[in-house]
Amino acid sequence: MRNVVIIGSGCAGNTAAIYAARASLAPLVAAGHEPGGQLSLTTQVENFPGFPDGVNGPELVENIKLQARNFGAEYVPGEVIEADLSKRPFRLNIDGDWIETRALIIATGASARWLGLESERKLIGHGVSSCATCDGFFYRDKEIMVVGGGDSALEEANFLTRFGRRVTVVHRRDQFRASRIMTDRTRANPKIELVTGVVIDEVHDPSQGVVTGVTLRNAATGEKWRREVDGLFVAIGHVPNTAIFKGQIDLDADGYIVSHGGARTSVPGVFHAGDVADRTYRQAITAAGAGCIAAIEAERFLEAQGH
Ligand code: NAP
Repeated sequence: MRNVVIIGSGCAGNTAAIYAARASLAPLVAAGHEPGGQLSLTTQVENFPGFPDGVNGPELVENIKLQARNFGAEYVPGEVIEADLSKRPFRLNIDGDWIETRALIIATGASARWLGLESERKLIGHGVSSCATCDGFFYRDKEIMVVGGGDSALEEANFLTRFGRRVTVVHRRDQFRASRIMTDRTRANPKIELVTGVVIDEVHDPSQGVVTGVTLRNAATGEKWRREVDGLFVAIGHVPNTAIFKGQIDLDADGYIVSHGGARTSVPGVFHAGDVADRTYRQAITAAGAGCIAAIEAERFLEAQGH
């Protein structure tokens, strides 16, 4: 029987682990299928407070984990494949082994949706990014491409014009999914070029270890051509990792956890932290803050239960 189990080892989960461990709750962290979370997919992080020269993303998240372990947090490498939140203690199946816990912090994050190209995967963190706020700064006076046709893609494209020489938005259809106001604003931005009805077939060049261009394909005619770019921002949506909680806690239509104030979910004793309940900010620092809030709330919950 655990006092608190934290699912997920990104910025949110690891920060929750520091606070829970320092509160002598001996937390167990199930590291999950993407240990380190989104930060482990980045390179340099320049907007996390406390690092005037920036910090390497994977190193930052590893250090937060190390800090939690120094206070006694225990990490297991597995993934929670099933959860029973119908009564307390809650029951969790970690890769086949059931454990019980009095409180639960869900910090499973939201995974960026990717195009699914092998070349794209190889260049994540080396010119391919899913976060304009995080990485836009590195593309000063460069040729930037954004893929997607929703609000995120157009918002990122507008943001990236602060840095890039030119920003090209590539969208697979002719109609944008984004709101009218965002679409109009994007069309009016002289630094943005909109390329519609076009998909990305290949990202170059994994053999050089850096993005040099893409192969585009007209979705209707099949015609292909190459375009030189320095950075490719993939903004085709995020998928919150909540499948195992469906039907057990309140989720919104897209699967994000609905907050019931602070870090509370619809189930007393189950708390959320980080991107799993945040479709707006999605930053390392907001996730870390959310992890802190969740741990403090879990501690107070357990105290009120007499533990
Ligand atoms: P979204 O609205 O689901 O849009 C995803 C876009 O990516 C769509 O245009 C989609 O194309 C495209 N796409 C999906 N899979 C693709 C693939 N495999 N290859 C190429 N393109 C692909 O996601 P989002 O833009 O992240 O927005 C999520 C939610 O947050 C929305 O409700 C949005 O309004 C909201 N949001 C609001 C703001 C704001 O108000 N400032 C900012 C950001 C996000 P199709 O259109 O062809 O399906």
